[in-house]
Amino acid sequence: MSRSLRTPIRTALVAALAALAALLSQPAGAAPTSASPTAARWTDCSGGYVGLTYDDGPNPASTTALLSALQAGQAKATFFIWGQHADQYPDLLRSEQAAGMWIGNHTYTHPHLPQIGEPAAYQQMVDTQNAVQRVTGQRPTLFRPPYGETNSQVKSDEARLGMAEVLWSVDSQDWNGASTAQIVQANATLRAGGIVLMHDGGYSTTVAAVPQILDGLAARHMCPGRITGTPGNAAVVTAP
Ligand code: ZN
Repeated sequence: MSRSLRTPIRTALVAALAALAALLSQPAGAAPTSASPTAARWTDCSGGYVGLTYDDGPNPASTTALLSALQAGQAKATFFIWGQHADQYPDLLRSEQAAGMWIGNHTYTHPHLPQIGEPAAYQQMVDTQNAVQRVTGQRPTLFRPPYGETNSQVKSDEARLGMAEVLWSVDSQDWNGASTAQIVQANATLRAGGIVLMHDGGYSTTVAAVPQILDGLAARHMCPGRITGTPGNAAVVTAP
């Protein structure tokens, strides 16, 4: 090796070692990884918006994990909660609010509203409005009747309380023992403007499905959207 080459080689070696040292000195959290979501995940929504919904919480067995999975994917969802669970687990409901999720009314104890009749049905709904307001300071504007069971009296109660009725176009069947793959597949059938029924009910399958659901939506240029509506009109899904 000639003397003239030594200096450039040594210079290159020093530079490489310096780069390696800089890399090793970085805190672990600062290194970019494939798992960290990019800031620009939901930029292409040309396929339309869909509403992800999770019913029956808050639930100590699943709410925190669901929120983590959704936040990791920079996604928002609507949580239709029981008033009783809001009173039992106010911190979990506040964590939903802090995570930017939307909170809807799903009655106080999940009865069959058409069967219990009035004034019990209205009481279930207003008690939940009050419970959510106590915890979050806000009153829901969305209502999902348990089991999707509604009638003219339920709709009248919704209107009196200023809530839009929200049913669903796809049932994930997570409540019925569906596997994670089956829950993911159900979400893959969502069309623009569709709403999928899932549960914050302690199901590990539902939690595990979140990353694949979001990846599937992104691949179809669809984005998680916000469900909105006015009493007496069909709910729509819009940009968050
Ligand atoms: Zn329910």
